[in-house]
Amino acid sequence: MSENIELKVSPELKEKPDFSQLTFGEIFTDYMLSFEYSLDQGWHDLKIIPYGPIELSPAAQSIHYGQAVFEGLKAYKHDGEVVLFRPEENFKRINQSLERLKMPQIDEALLLEGLKQLVDVDREWVPDGEGQSLYIRPTVFATQGVLGVHPSHEYRLLIILSPSGSYYGGDSLRTTKIYVEDEYVRAVRGGVGFAKVAGNYAASLLAQANANQLGFDQVLWLDGVEQKYVEEVGSMNIFFVIDGKVVTPSLNGSILPGITRKTVLELAESLGYETEERRISIEELYELHQSGALTEVFGTGTAAVISPVGTLQYRDEEIVINNNETGPVTQKLYDHYTGIQSGKLEDPHGWRVVVPRYDR
Ligand SMILES: *Cc1c(COP(=O)(O)O)cnc(C)c1O
Repeated sequence: MSENIELKVSPELKEKPDFSQLTFGEIFTDYMLSFEYSLDQGWHDLKIIPYGPIELSPAAQSIHYGQAVFEGLKAYKHDGEVVLFRPEENFKRINQSLERLKMPQIDEALLLEGLKQLVDVDREWVPDGEGQSLYIRPTVFATQGVLGVHPSHEYRLLIILSPSGSYYGGDSLRTTKIYVEDEYVRAVRGGVGFAKVAGNYAASLLAQANANQLGFDQVLWLDGVEQKYVEEVGSMNIFFVIDGKVVTPSLNGSILPGITRKTVLELAESLGYETEERRISIEELYELHQSGALTEVFGTGTAAVISPVGTLQYRDEEIVINNNETGPVTQKLYDHYTGIQSGKLEDPHGWRVVVPRYDR
């Protein structure tokens, strides 16, 4: 077993909230993981410290130039055991994001060990109700306080934890209304769309707010060059069931390579569905709907897991998917996915990683 990471004990632990009333990302636990980087020391000073405000230079480069990346994953409690879901994938991806923003790579195994120890310390904060989880948010940001535009010489990594409720409140899936965005774009070829960088979200907020104002839940992004091909929806990847086949846009550099996307593809294969990753235009989708071949649409992402789409609006034409109800393929994938995550089903793929109990 690995050595224990330094723990700065909090003088006072918080009162736990009412776990039956949990929302998403509003409550944080007692501790967080902290890791620092400087040019001469590299990554150093890995420790678990009390959750709370941090000191940051007003000239920190992350604030001015957006040198910041993040991740999102979840821990579950089942039969008293706490498990993470495919955490290695998140740390692999954080290094891809860091590389794209010219930020220093981090030892993935060390990060995973740090996360396990952090979650162990905050073990009592992992809820075990239906659809509940501990949402885990790693972030790395530039901290050097100089205004020159160059890669920062100093960075900080934090991992914070937030007990979160079911996205839908219970296990029934709610269909969403999606607006196909044809004015703004999220990402372009050669840009940072494939990386989980903070600024991608800043760039998406105006379109998202406009769509919300019109009564839609999310926007469906089209490619940034021709605004013709489907990319992803809000903070989720998008899937279609076409003639019984599970289809998703192929990764092209501007689409975020979701871990839920990857898992759903693997899961669909193992459940006997044919899967396909390909370029798919919004016009083709509308034609496939017209002909009856397009039977289901759903989004995938860590927060919502699998989110069925009820309607799509492109320019002035709305199409209703599967009578605005959750389709059978979506439901089956959701049941298997969440069953494996939560520990109710077997884990033949080895996706669950148990958080050990450390002696402290
Ligand atoms: C994080 C994210 C996703 C989903 O990725 P998961 O690894 O499945 O959570 C999809 N699109 C965007 C833009 C994202 O930031």
